[in-house]
Amino acid sequence: MRFDVLTLFPEMITDYCSQSIIKRAAEAGVISVNTINPRDFTLNKHKKVDDTPYGGGAGMVLMPQPYVDAYESIDRCENSLTVMLSPQGEPLKENLVKELAKFDQIILLCGHYEGFDERIRDIIKPREISLGDFVLTGGELPALCVIDAVSRKLEGTLGKIESANDDSFSDGMLEYPQYTKPREYRGLKVPEVLLNGNHKEIEEFRQSQRLKRTKERRPDLMH
Ligand code: SAM
Repeated sequence: MRFDVLTLFPEMITDYCSQSIIKRAAEAGVISVNTINPRDFTLNKHKKVDDTPYGGGAGMVLMPQPYVDAYESIDRCENSLTVMLSPQGEPLKENLVKELAKFDQIILLCGHYEGFDERIRDIIKPREISLGDFVLTGGELPALCVIDAVSRKLEGTLGKIESANDDSFSDGMLEYPQYTKPREYRGLKVPEVLLNGNHKEIEEFRQSQRLKRTKERRPDLMH
């Protein structure tokens, strides 16, 4: 999987991707993450990439030329998807992450300031994805969320130690509570059933906990 990220702040992307599991996935060749800075493509003599909105109003709008030229400079493979990070897009959920993991290349367009000139949408026609019903300062965090969540779905990213099989949402429910050493901490004991080595009982306990948690916290997932 190749991620190409259009961003005015490439270090935000490269810093995150040079740590921990995502770094290992890149080193193992499971993913590659490239950044393209629209500022490098602006034809404006002052290197501007944004300007005031027509019609008035606060903030700065991203100009089409640097974004479209930067986008068109990217080598596209056949099985490629272009995503614009936007609070107006479809919410990022587990099923969408699984769908994204089937592509060979995802191009991620990160906005900033007041967002994109509408003609960027008209020309590029991206799929728009939102992290949720709130507004962030830029698309870099949502782009990193896409990179991270999609990478976890790719074979070779997670070792046995970080297995995703029981994670929340993997089977439509939330995960059961987890415990590690010590057996007792501040008077709170690890449930006895987890210590007895009986795998059938442990699985039954975890399944009942999954159900309980999901009913209590996310009844909307139960159907
Ligand atoms: N004026 C825009 C609006 O109201 O729809 C919001 C612009 S926001 C301040 C700047 C950029 O941050 C957006 O272009 C987008 O790339 C990103 N962004 C902000 N909130 C987001 C969210 N919930 N999901 C995905 N991207 C978001």
